[in-house]
Amino acid sequence: MTSEGSFPRAARRFDSVGFSEIVQVRNRVLKLLAAGHKVWRFEGGEPYMPTPQPIKDAMTAALARNETRYAPSSGVEELRRAIVEKVLRKNEIPADAESPIVVNGGMHGLFAAFATLLDPGDEVLMFSPYWTPIVDVVAYHGAVPVLVGTERARAEGFTAALARAVTPKTKLLYWNSPANPTGDVFSRAEVEEVSAFARDRGLAVISDEAYEDLIYEGEGHVSPASIPGMADRTISVFTLSKTYSMTGWRAGYVIVPERWRTAMRTVVLYSINGVSTPTQWAMLEALRLPDGFLEEARAGYRKRRDRLVAGLKDAGFAIETPRAALYLFPKAPASLGSDSKSAAKELLDRARVATVPGIVFGPEGEGHLRFSFSVAEEMIAGGVEALRALATAPAR
Ligand code: PMP
Repeated sequence: MTSEGSFPRAARRFDSVGFSEIVQVRNRVLKLLAAGHKVWRFEGGEPYMPTPQPIKDAMTAALARNETRYAPSSGVEELRRAIVEKVLRKNEIPADAESPIVVNGGMHGLFAAFATLLDPGDEVLMFSPYWTPIVDVVAYHGAVPVLVGTERARAEGFTAALARAVTPKTKLLYWNSPANPTGDVFSRAEVEEVSAFARDRGLAVISDEAYEDLIYEGEGHVSPASIPGMADRTISVFTLSKTYSMTGWRAGYVIVPERWRTAMRTVVLYSINGVSTPTQWAMLEALRLPDGFLEEARAGYRKRRDRLVAGLKDAGFAIETPRAALYLFPKAPASLGSDSKSAAKELLDRARVATVPGIVFGPEGEGHLRFSFSVAEEMIAGGVEALRALATAPAR
């Protein structure tokens, strides 16, 4: 037998790891577009506006200054200082000069945080519905996600719901507030309750704060690491993607307790050896933008959210207005059935409206559809019209 045609298989750890189903939806949409169809696109999750000009200018200026060499692998000093100042002031996290590590966006920060903490067989508590990639990142490390339905937990009490799910193998809690896909925000009292649970059970917390700046009314964001006793057990993961319309830049940072810093710096060193140097100078400019910038961005999102909520109601969806993030997560109308994948397919095939089926966000998402309201206003108007037409079309 020759060795020709015989190859090693991919690592076994991939056997239980899926590939983002949201990407699969996007691929179907791209196919329709390539075939010349108009598609009303609500399946995405990006800010609708471009990156602010001063951030782009800062990148250009960094290039002109030849800031093009290796930076320290955990980040440029000026940027790390600005990050410490920001999390002290805005998040009230008791960070010190060595707390931040600059990472390639939230996804990389989360991957590095799980890599820092997880051994095979560990269990990870997480609220559901959840952001889809997390279960795969947990599985990649040979660990096991244990789901706690957010709505049920809120009804029954978070401590009781978490106590039922915790086992001697539980190592950490992944926590995302404001949440994708529901726009749910934990109140301060809830953050305190869940934090007390993590402290009492000796758990680590990975706090995903991607949408910290996109809360449109009511109580603001509370970082778990700001609760007394929590900074020592929490890795806080931040991204510039949503706040500053920087999804394509791959820019984020993590705040890490001292006991895990060496491990996490090692993960970052051997995965990326630092974020691109000119990008880091642009990140510094973003952190220096005046607060007025955020007010303006939020006003734009709020307007789009309210228009899409009103339009979906008109088209027969039962929906409550979420307080945060970029998404609406209504139940599919009865006429589309309770299987979210076939409901999403029906909307795409018959109305050319692209959404993400709720099941990809966990069993608690079944029956729902995720719409991003972070789209052009014409997209909202056209999509709503197409949904209304479908609702009044004769049943098939
Ligand atoms: N966390 C959540 C909950 C998200 O929705 C996203 C982006 N969709 C991220 C983290 C990561 O974003 P990025 O990698 O662009 O920073």
